[in-house]
Amino acid sequence: MRFLRKRASPTPSPELPPAEGVHACLHVALAPQWDDLAGMGVEAKASHWLCGACGELFTPEQAQELRSNEAERLKQALGGD
Ligand SMILES: [Zn+2]
Repeated sequence: MRFLRKRASPTPSPELPPAEGVHACLHVALAPQWDDLAGMGVEAKASHWLCGACGELFTPEQAQELRSNEAERLKQALGGD
């Protein structure tokens, strides 16, 4: 007589959404980084933007977008529901 083995533990999905917290950073602490010293101090000439909160690097285009909707994202985050 055979006993069927039941898997007690649920199989973890390989495509789980990112854990909460991973995308919790709003990236509002962006600081310009310059590869080229000639452009240093000029935000428009920044090579990258570094989020001081999470350490993620963004392209100037990404940073511009992040900053353009910064207030909106903050409102959403603070507003809760
Ligand atoms: Zn961040």
